[in-house]
Amino acid sequence: MEPFKIKVVERLPILDRAAREAALERAGYNLFNLRSDEVTIDLLTDSGTSAMSDRQWAGLMVGDETYAGSRNYAHFEEVVRKLTGFPQVVPAHQGRAAEHLLLSVLLRPGQIVPNNMHFDTTRAHVVHQGARPLDLAIAEAYDPRSLHPFKGNVDVARLERLLTDEDPSHVPLVMVTITNNTGGGQPVSVANLREVSAVAHRHGVPLYLDMCRWAENAYFVREREPEFADRSIREIGRAMFDLADGATMSAKKDGLVNIGGFVVTRDAQLAARMKEQLILFEGFPTYGGLARRDLEAMAIGLEEATELPYLEHRIAQVRYLAGKLASAGVPVFQPPGGHGVYIDAHRFLPDVPISQFPGQALVVEIYREGGVRTVEIGEVFRGPKDPADRTPSLELVRLAIPRRVYTASHLDHVARSVLAVWERRASIRGLAMVEAPERLRHFTARFGPLPSPATTPRGSKRPARAR
Ligand SMILES: *Cc1c(COP(=O)(O)O)cnc(C)c1O
Repeated sequence: MEPFKIKVVERLPILDRAAREAALERAGYNLFNLRSDEVTIDLLTDSGTSAMSDRQWAGLMVGDETYAGSRNYAHFEEVVRKLTGFPQVVPAHQGRAAEHLLLSVLLRPGQIVPNNMHFDTTRAHVVHQGARPLDLAIAEAYDPRSLHPFKGNVDVARLERLLTDEDPSHVPLVMVTITNNTGGGQPVSVANLREVSAVAHRHGVPLYLDMCRWAENAYFVREREPEFADRSIREIGRAMFDLADGATMSAKKDGLVNIGGFVVTRDAQLAARMKEQLILFEGFPTYGGLARRDLEAMAIGLEEATELPYLEHRIAQVRYLAGKLASAGVPVFQPPGGHGVYIDAHRFLPDVPISQFPGQALVVEIYREGGVRTVEIGEVFRGPKDPADRTPSLELVRLAIPRRVYTASHLDHVARSVLAVWERRASIRGLAMVEAPERLRHFTARFGPLPSPATTPRGSKRPARAR
C-alpha cells in the first residue's frame, strides 16, 4: 500500500477520445507538445515531478532568503556531507548544471569519458567540451530479456583495456551512472563499483558517480547483494560513495524536489574552481541558482528518499505495473528497473520498421487510448546513429513513475490503456517525421500518419490482410 496519505489533491484532466485525437493532431504526434491539461496520467518523466511531503512544504516556510550564508544552505550542506561523506559541496539548480560545473573544469578537447551509459545531458556536456563519451556497460545491458541482477554494471575488462591503451591524461575521469537511466533504470552492484574504483585508481584516474538515483540503486544492492542484506540504505550509500572521488546529482530524482542539484568531491582545489564557474553561471556558492527555501526542501527530501518504506513502495509500484503488462504478454524490459517500466517497441510492433519510428507510434497509441503520456527512448531520442557505433539499438517506450504521485488504481488505468493497445497491435502503423530539426529532435520533431499504401477505391472492400 501507499506509505502516505493524501492531504492536498489536484484534479486530473479527463478527456474524451475526440479531445485526445485533437490534442494529438495539434501536437504533431509529439507528446512533448501536449499541454498538461491534455494529459490524464503523466509518465513522461520522474524528474522534478515528485510530490513533496508536508515536512518539505513546511521547510519552504522556514526559507531564509539571505544572499550569503543562509541557514538553509548550512542545513543542506550538513545533510549532503552526512549522506555522501564527501567534504566539498557545490550546489546547482539541477543535474545538468552540476555536470556543466564538473566537466567544464575537468575536460579538455580530445579527451575520453567512459561511463556505463551516458545519460543524454551528460553526453551532451562531454561533447560540448570537445571530448568523447564512451559507453562501457556490460553486454547484458543491451539485452531486454536478460535477467542479470545488475544490468547497469560496467564492463571492467573493457575499462581496463581503455585505461591501459590510452595515455592516462586522455581520460580525466571515469563516470558510473547509478542507476543506469538510459539502460532501463538498472542498478550497479557495489562489487562492480569496487572493481571500477580499483582499476581507475590504479591508473591514477578519479571516479565520479552520476548519483541521481543512488537511493534506488542502494535498494537493489540491499535486495541482491547478500553482503548488504542487513544494511540500511544510508550505509549502502556510504559503501558506494566511499569508492568514488565525487559525484553529480540531480535532486529532481532521489532528492524528492521539483528543482535542485549539486556536485560533491574530495578535491578542495577542484571545488574552488567549480565555485568560480558557479558564481559565473549559477549564483553564489551558498545558493547555487536556487531559492534558499528550495535548499531546505532538498535537504529534507534527500533524507526522506532513504527511508525504506518509501523505497519499498516505489520499487513495488514499478514491479506492479511491469507485472501486469508482462503477464498479458507485453514485451517489457526485464528485470524492471528503479524508476519506470520500459516496453520493447521492436517486439511490440515487429512489423513497423525503424524508419517509421515504432517507439513513437506506440507512445502515440497509448495516449490515444487512455490519455497516458509516456516517452520514446529509441530512434527519435537518439537521432541518426554514428555508423561507427556498433552497440545494439534499443527501441524503448518508457513509462516513468513520478515519486509519491500516483496510486495503484492510477497504475491500473495505465495497464488497461497499454493492454488495449496490445490487443489491437496488428493494425498499428508507423509514423512519418514531417519536421525534423537537426538538434534535440525528440523535443521538437513533428510527425504525421503515414500516407496510405495502395489506396483502395472508395467503397471497395480492402483485401484481407495476409497473416
Ligand atoms: C536527469 C538526469 C540528469 C540531468 O539532470 P537534470 O536535473 O534533468 O538536469 C543527469 N543524469 C541522469 C542519469 C539523469 O537521470
